[in-house]
Amino acid sequence: QVRVRFAPSPTGPLHIGGVRTALFNYLFAKKNNGVFYLRIEDTDQNRFVPGAEEYIVEALNWLDIPFDEGIGKEGKYGPYRQSERKEIYRQYAEQLINTGWAYYAFDTAEDLDALRKQEEAEGKTFIYNHTNRDKLDNSLRISKEETEKRIADGEEYVIRFKIPVGETLFLKDIIRGDVKFETNLLDDKVLFKSDGMPTYHLANIVDDHLMETSHVIRGEEWLPSLPLHSLLYRAFDWEAPEFAHLPLILKPVGNGKLSKRDGDKMGFPVFPLEWTNADGSKSSGYREEGFLPEAVVNFLSLLGWNPGNDQELFTLEELVQSFDLERVHKAGAKFDPEKNKWFNHQYFIRQDNNILASQFNHTLLEKGINKPAEFVEQVVGLVKERATFASELWDLSDFFFTAPTEYDEKAKKNWKEDTGALLSELSEVINNTMDFSSQNLETVVKAWISEKEVGMGKVMQPLRLSLVGSLKGPHLFDIMALIGKEDTINRIKKAVE
Ligand code: GLU
Repeated sequence: QVRVRFAPSPTGPLHIGGVRTALFNYLFAKKNNGVFYLRIEDTDQNRFVPGAEEYIVEALNWLDIPFDEGIGKEGKYGPYRQSERKEIYRQYAEQLINTGWAYYAFDTAEDLDALRKQEEAEGKTFIYNHTNRDKLDNSLRISKEETEKRIADGEEYVIRFKIPVGETLFLKDIIRGDVKFETNLLDDKVLFKSDGMPTYHLANIVDDHLMETSHVIRGEEWLPSLPLHSLLYRAFDWEAPEFAHLPLILKPVGNGKLSKRDGDKMGFPVFPLEWTNADGSKSSGYREEGFLPEAVVNFLSLLGWNPGNDQELFTLEELVQSFDLERVHKAGAKFDPEKNKWFNHQYFIRQDNNILASQFNHTLLEKGINKPAEFVEQVVGLVKERATFASELWDLSDFFFTAPTEYDEKAKKNWKEDTGALLSELSEVINNTMDFSSQNLETVVKAWISEKEVGMGKVMQPLRLSLVGSLKGPHLFDIMALIGKEDTINRIKKAVE
C-alpha cells in the first residue's frame, strides 16, 4: 500500500514550498489509493517555535489538503508528534552501537572547532569520518571501559553514525534517476544527543520505517541527506522506501531559491496564512491577501509538475487523476506572482454570484448600504470579470450604490458647450422609455443619437460620466437598467446643473 507523509519541523510558518511538498504527497497518495499522513518532526527543541504546529494544521485545512492520519486524527501508527515518541528512538540508537554502525563521541564544540581550523589551515575541508575519527574523542579510539565510565560520570556525549570507508553509493530517485555519492565525503552525522533526543536523521528514518512509509517525497534540499538515510536503512537491515526529491521553487527574477525576502520586496506572500514574527511584525499570507484556496492549490501544482498538455485549470479531483511523479521536473520552478493572480482571477470569476454577493454584502453593510440581495447579485455579475480579489469589488461597483458626487477631471474635458442641452433632451427620451431593459435602452438611445446626427462618443462619454462619475464601469445600458429610471434621470439632472 502507498503510504506517504508530510513531515514538517515546526520551526516557523510553513513556506509555500512546504505546502507544495504536502500537496504532491497528497496527490500521489490519492492517485494510488494510498494514505497521506502528517508527522510533526519536533525533536530539535532549540528550533521549536510555539504556534508553528497549529499553523501547519490550519494551513492544510484552509487549502483543503486533508491528511488521513496525524495530529488530531490518530491512527494505528501514532503518536504522530516525534516529541511524544521520544522513548522509541534510544533503543534504535543503541542497536546501531551494538552492531558497530554507530559510536559514542565526547568531543566538545571547541575540540571540533580547533581541529576544523587546523585542517583548514592545511587546505583541507574538515570531515568528521574515518579521516579524523582517530584524532577525536570517541569510543572508536578509547576503550569500552573508559567509554562506559565517562557516560556513567555524566559526561556529555552524542551518538554518531559510522560512515563506511571508500564506497560509491548508487542510489535511485524517482525524479532524478540515478544519483551517485562517495561515502568518503560524508560526515559521521549525530544520531542521538545526551539530552535523550534523537536528531532529525534518526527519528525520520525510524518513523518512516515504523509508520510503513512507502515513498519519501520531499524538497531537493534533503537530497544531500539521501546517502546517510540509505545507509541507515542498510544498517538497520530495513527495506528503504522509494525517494523523490522535488525541484526547488525559484525567485521570480534572478537566480536562487524563493525566500521570504523576495516576497517582502516584491509585495507578494510566500506563506499560506499570515504569520506574526517574533518581533511583532507580520508576514502576509495568501489567505489574508484574498486568494482562494483552490487557486493557491492549482498554481502550486504546476510548480515543478506539468500534465503533459496545456491544461492549466484543475480541480483537486482532476489533479489527483492527472498527477504523476514521473512528470515532475528536475529543474527548479520559477515562482511567478503575476501568474498566481491570474489563477486567482480565474477562480474568482467562476464563483457563484450569490455567494460573492453575500460576502460583498458585509462590505456594503459596513458602509451603511442596504440593498436587496438580488440587486447586489446583479452588480457582482456585471463587475466580477474585472476583479482578481473580492476586495476590489467596491471600487469597481461603488456607483451602483451611490450617485457620483464628483466627476473625473480628465473626462470632463469632453464635456462641450452643447453637452448639457443634449443630455437634458436625452433624459426626456429616457424618461419616456417604458421598457427599461438594457437591450431596449440601447436601441432607444442609439436611435436617438443617430437621429440627432451627433457622434456616439459625444453623447455616450458624458452620459457615462453623469451616471458613473468617471469613464470606468461595465456596459452603460446595463448600469442604467440596474439603477433604474428614477436614479438615471436624477444623475443626469445633477450632472448638467
Ligand atoms: N522534518 C523535515 C523537514 O522539515 C522532513 C524532511 C523529510 O521529509 O525527510 O522538512
